[in-house]
Amino acid sequence: MPSEFEIIARYFTRGTSHTTLGVGDDGALIAPTPGQELVISTDLLVEGTHFLADTDAEALGWKSLAVNVSDMAAMGAQPRWALLAAVLPAPTVDWIEAFARGFFDCAASYGVDLIGGDTTRGPRAFCVTILGEVPAGRALRRDGAKAGDSIWVSGRPGRAALGLAHLQGRTTLIEPALTECLAALHKPQPRVALGLALHGIASAAIDVSDGLLADLGHILEQSALGARLHIADLPAAGLERDCLLAGGDDYELLFTVPAASDGEVAALGTRLGLRLTRIGDIVAGRPGELVLCDDGGTVITPATRGYDHFMSPLEAGTVSLADMSRPPWAGTVS
Ligand code: ADP
Ligand code: MG
Repeated sequence: MPSEFEIIARYFTRGTSHTTLGVGDDGALIAPTPGQELVISTDLLVEGTHFLADTDAEALGWKSLAVNVSDMAAMGAQPRWALLAAVLPAPTVDWIEAFARGFFDCAASYGVDLIGGDTTRGPRAFCVTILGEVPAGRALRRDGAKAGDSIWVSGRPGRAALGLAHLQGRTTLIEPALTECLAALHKPQPRVALGLALHGIASAAIDVSDGLLADLGHILEQSALGARLHIADLPAAGLERDCLLAGGDDYELLFTVPAASDGEVAALGTRLGLRLTRIGDIVAGRPGELVLCDDGGTVITPATRGYDHFMSPLEAGTVSLADMSRPPWAGTVS
């Protein structure tokens, strides 16, 4: 088994492209671009809590950095540097090699230099700290939504939760949905280009890591406003829609824009080749209040109910999260 220093030298030391001094000294040296603010974020991934013990090492390497890159995307920042603190149980060379491959694959995809970290023995866990840059004053924050703004979401959130449900035997996906949902779960594609393009357009943004309702709730609380969503406008139906509302781990962007900018957002989606869906409106309701309107115009107000109770009004027209085993529903996912 390699020593701590061999592990660092062999697996976690790579060339850098925009770093003064990287891995190997007591500290790293970076020179932020003049006129940019630094955006800094950190995320912990703990075995048993955030990933299953048998998760593929390469996928885990990708995801441990990707979730941090997604935080940069949600701030409208360009990800630039990362630090990796790794706790490894008697690491096998194959496992670390695969983890490092996934990590650096993601780093190369998003232009991130790994500039330092820490490595120690213990129950498997990873902590990645990321630094990004955003033009001063242009960061996308959660507290900027205004009454009358439109609410948009990128991609097809809910698919990572569907992939997990399949792996846990709670449902059965068929191709091509199976491959797509497992890719969404294992290899999320943080929306950095979208975040950067939303400078000067979006009033607020967040990445969808806990499900659309929970994450929209954060924007509403911090902006002290309410929201009205149209169920029929959500980019999913059936079980996939339930996963979209309550499932996590997709790392799509949820953002608000002044209604006058809707056309600009639609054009942006075309330019980026990315599905962008307008799903509702910010309203001057009770702070944090989220109203869902169904196809028949019925209004459901989840903020006044417990979380599980909230899901129940949807069951009539869709498949509930508690009913994931009911086949066949894969036809709703294409
Ligand atoms: P120190 O004792 O000064 O904390 P370490 O021996 O822990 O130094 O680390 C040596 C160098 O390797 C440092 O530059 C540190 O940032 C880097 N490093 C340690 N672990 C990792 C890792 N998992 N990934 C990237 N760099 C690492
Ligand atoms: Mg150290």
